[in-house]
Amino acid sequence: MHELSLASAIVDTVERHAGGRPVTVITMRVGALRQVVPESLELYVELVGRGTVCAGARLELEVVPARLACCGAEWEPPSFRCPSCGGGGTVVSGDEFLVESIQVEEVEACIART
Ligand SMILES: [Zn+2]
Repeated sequence: MHELSLASAIVDTVERHAGGRPVTVITMRVGALRQVVPESLELYVELVGRGTVCAGARLELEVVPARLACCGAEWEPPSFRCPSCGGGGTVVSGDEFLVESIQVEEVEACIART
């Protein structure tokens, strides 16, 4: 269910930006804390994207590592506790979930690049 709602959000966003042109590649930035399973996200985007400009688009996920900060220091999980004070820390990065860019088919261009 998690991936399904994320996939709908992706397809919505891409459709808004594609301007009706067929999309070939969707590049995403996904934070490690999102715990997204790339394979199932791909599957759902394919499913949700059927009959839209996203049909047949390839999904490229760039995973952003999680970083936490506290007491002027930054660190990466697995530890969620501040090394100095033992507090929880605040998330600096790792909860991203956004469409970074899309590539659309240039319908006009006839240059086949392989
Ligand atoms: Zn601290």
